[in-house]
Amino acid sequence: MTKPVRVRFAPSPTGYPHVGNIRTALFNWLFARRYGGSFIVRIEDTDVTRKVKGAEKGILDSLRWLSLDWDEGPDVGGDYGPYYQSQRLKLYKSAAEKLVAQGDAYYCYCSPERLDAMRAEQVKRKQPPGYDRRCRELTPEERAKKQAEGIVPVVRFKVPLEGQTRFKDLIYGDVVFEHSTLDDFILLKSDGYPTYHLANVVDDHAMEISHVIRAEEWISSTPRHLLLYQALGFEPPEFVHHPMILGPDRAKLSKRHGSVSILDYREQGYLPQAMFNFLALIGWSLDDKTEIIPRQALVDNFSLERIGKTGAIFNREKLDWMNGVYIRSLTPDEFFDAVQPYLMTDIAAGEALIDSEDYVREILPLVQERAKKLLQVVELTKFFFVEELDYKPDMLIGKNMDNNSTVKALKAAQDKLKPLKAFDTDSLEAVLRPLAPELELKTGQLFSVLRVAVTGETAAPPLFETMAVLGRERSLRRIAAALSKL
Ligand code: GLU
Repeated sequence: MTKPVRVRFAPSPTGYPHVGNIRTALFNWLFARRYGGSFIVRIEDTDVTRKVKGAEKGILDSLRWLSLDWDEGPDVGGDYGPYYQSQRLKLYKSAAEKLVAQGDAYYCYCSPERLDAMRAEQVKRKQPPGYDRRCRELTPEERAKKQAEGIVPVVRFKVPLEGQTRFKDLIYGDVVFEHSTLDDFILLKSDGYPTYHLANVVDDHAMEISHVIRAEEWISSTPRHLLLYQALGFEPPEFVHHPMILGPDRAKLSKRHGSVSILDYREQGYLPQAMFNFLALIGWSLDDKTEIIPRQALVDNFSLERIGKTGAIFNREKLDWMNGVYIRSLTPDEFFDAVQPYLMTDIAAGEALIDSEDYVREILPLVQERAKKLLQVVELTKFFFVEELDYKPDMLIGKNMDNNSTVKALKAAQDKLKPLKAFDTDSLEAVLRPLAPELELKTGQLFSVLRVAVTGETAAPPLFETMAVLGRERSLRRIAAALSKL
């Protein structure tokens, strides 16, 4: 590589941050970091009709969440700004005018009605869609007449009628497009805004982008872009199109496959480091087998050559598994920090967090092993925080037990627990384990009765640890409440 690496993520603020787009950003970021280059964020906000409020924030928040820091772009600025296309309209206008002046583009006065009728006719005749080039060869007089009528024209590119454009894509190899399949696409709209094609090329050149790394859906735009580079006398960047993310049915990943907004994943409690690892492995691999690859190792080993040619599947089970691995790898303090915002979504847990942080810190290690997502921790720990447990009395009655034997077991447990000096895991085990044979019960029977009594659930973290954290008072109160239910 001779030129410095400068890559860009160029989102259009037209919707939520799709995991596919963010994974494109991630590939660009990894490439920039791997080669000591610059990662640039450019907001492509030239389609006024499709702009969605809050979309830009959602996209930038997603990048921040994954710590995909940008060297130039919104907030941070840079030498090649502004980084909003809506603030660069003059550049596009002058590029379009230059192309018209040199005969590579022309003003088109066709009305939307005429274009609609033309399209309908093409559909009827089963012809390929595209502008029929009516204004391509207007005489100066005809143009002056349209101008005098007050029609605001668009600017269209004059695509050569013959020949082909070819390029070497770093992933897809040699790509060829016949010019006969391209129509005279619009460069500048009548509202003075550029189209994606013009703005993208003008900016990639002006910002000295070395590699355009983007999803495969844009590959058909590339011949248009190359024609523009040529006409404008610019040297084109390298093009790298990567396959799209697919759902398990191998269709393009979309809402019907489940959440596709990165922010939904944040909300459910996926760790950013897990999401980072997961996204990097959709369509890229280190060695076809290693799954858990920390951030720095991804930076050190990332290469475009190892992006596969075929679409990669978004595998939710793998994401859940990976998130669990990352959750378990956190230290207790890290886990506490990560879980806090999720606990705050629940009133009782949130109050506990504020009033008795130590209690919460004791609880969390009991569920860290089991949580696949951080939001799940709220569910798993709920019973620790509520005043009264809500469960049906028959849940208390153990296997092959009845009301009497259950009452007897609970009372016996009370008697053992009340005089207990230290209410810790070992002491609890020391008195409760021998109690089962005394009552002629299996330990499993006794423990399940106690588990329901103190947690209100049949599946919960280990019993003695749980009781130790709940403490003497709370545990005994819950056993008493269980007795009164029976
Ligand atoms: N604005 C385009 C998008 O929304 C950018 C595509 C490209 O990278 O050229 O993805």
